[in-house]
Amino acid sequence: MIESVQDLKSSLRARGSDLFVRIGKPEEIIFELASELKTSWVYCNRERTREEVEVQNELEKKLWTIGQEILFYRGKMLLYTSDLPFPVTHTPDVFTQFRKEIENFVPIREPIEPIADKIASISAKIDFGEVPVLSDLGFEEISIDPRSAFPFKGGESEALKRLQYYVWDTKAVKTYKETRNELLGTDYSSKFSPYLAFGCLSPKKIHHEIKLFEERYGTNESTYWVTFELLWRDFFRLMAKKFVNKIFLKGGTLGRERKDLSDDMELFAKWAEGRTGIPFIDANMRELALTGFMSNRGRQNVASFLVNDLKLNWQLGAEWFEANLIDYDPSSNWGNWNYVAGVGNDPRQDRVFNIVSQAKRYDPEGTYVKTWLPELQAVPEAYIHAPETYAESQGFQSVSAMGIEYPEPIVQLKVY
Ligand SMILES: Cc1cc2nc3c(=O)[nH]c(=O)nc-3n(C[C@H](O)[C@H](O)[C@H](O)COP(=O)(O)OP(=O)(O)OC[C@H]3O[C@@H](n4cnc5c(N)ncnc54)[C@H](O)[C@@H]3O)c2cc1C
Repeated sequence: MIESVQDLKSSLRARGSDLFVRIGKPEEIIFELASELKTSWVYCNRERTREEVEVQNELEKKLWTIGQEILFYRGKMLLYTSDLPFPVTHTPDVFTQFRKEIENFVPIREPIEPIADKIASISAKIDFGEVPVLSDLGFEEISIDPRSAFPFKGGESEALKRLQYYVWDTKAVKTYKETRNELLGTDYSSKFSPYLAFGCLSPKKIHHEIKLFEERYGTNESTYWVTFELLWRDFFRLMAKKFVNKIFLKGGTLGRERKDLSDDMELFAKWAEGRTGIPFIDANMRELALTGFMSNRGRQNVASFLVNDLKLNWQLGAEWFEANLIDYDPSSNWGNWNYVAGVGNDPRQDRVFNIVSQAKRYDPEGTYVKTWLPELQAVPEAYIHAPETYAESQGFQSVSAMGIEYPEPIVQLKVY
């Protein structure tokens, strides 16, 4: 976030303008600035979820008291809401139906090119403020884990570089559908999500570049599939708006509260800290804690495990993701958790993952698991997804009895 703000400040400076940096509540600080500078309007990207909308409403009310208003933009989605053939409140609840109603019917608008001219600078004698560093905000400095799937910097300049790299330089977009379920490295998927979450990259720009790429190199399932995934992102955003606060509530958008899920915090801590004794789960959870990123395949599995195997309240998992993901986005996060927990409008109600068979399928040699759980280095491939069976095969009671510091599984999973 700091890198994104710094980059924005540098870009504005390069255009003869600048960015005010203040630390505090936006509804108070922006109001103070607007009063002091006697601005004409405040421009803002319209958010959809409750806490964000509350901030915007509060600011709007304050601005009215000095005769100013907020002009809202809706730039975060691939689609433009006023182009939809239905009001947002009538968006189909099922993704496939939504997609069929808009795909090929609703045009995806072209991104607006940035203005080339210099922006008039503000002449007022007000301190613009400096972008804080982590320690100013009470955090320790961090270093990038060399194993991270997202070793990149934040900000629009980096986002555009990544887009150029993923679409044009490597043409990785051409094989997206085949690689998107992999787990290691920077290029198995686009890694656009943190940039999209912070508004550093427009989904319309991604779509535009892919269309140019298709014109030159042809269309295939992979080039289509990136846009397909961006439609999921729009869908969850529309669901968040349609169902107002329901995506955050226990019963989800369906309003069907599950009585079989508990708030056992001890069990939850084991999941969150990657100490479940199920290597595929622990590796993913440790990756998240150390890097703020986890693949989509990993997210699906750890979420399913929390709900279906540990029988824990899915909201705990969603909050943990909210606190740890560098691409945290309220609608995408809570919307996906609604689905996994079976409280979203998912026509398929059988999204229970068999963790061991998923692990064997997507990490057949255990390379991913060993990357994040180096303590399992000595466990042979055949046993890597259930190390307790290795101990058994060697006549030991547990892996720790073999000198490997790794917990016993907290639940017994079927080994396929
Ligand atoms: C439980 C759970 C929680 C999630 N929380 C978030 C979140 O907080 N923020 C977030 O951006 N994504 C979230 N996702 C969706 C998905 O896992 C990430 O968007 C994706 O892994 C990001 O990596 P990428 O940019 O390389 O994606 P790619 O595979 O390259 O996809 C391209 C873009 O499509 C969008 N996209 C892909 N899959 C989904 C999806 N299932 N739902 C919505 N949009 C999608 C993203 O914007 C992504 O950047 C969550 C998924 C699950 C199962």
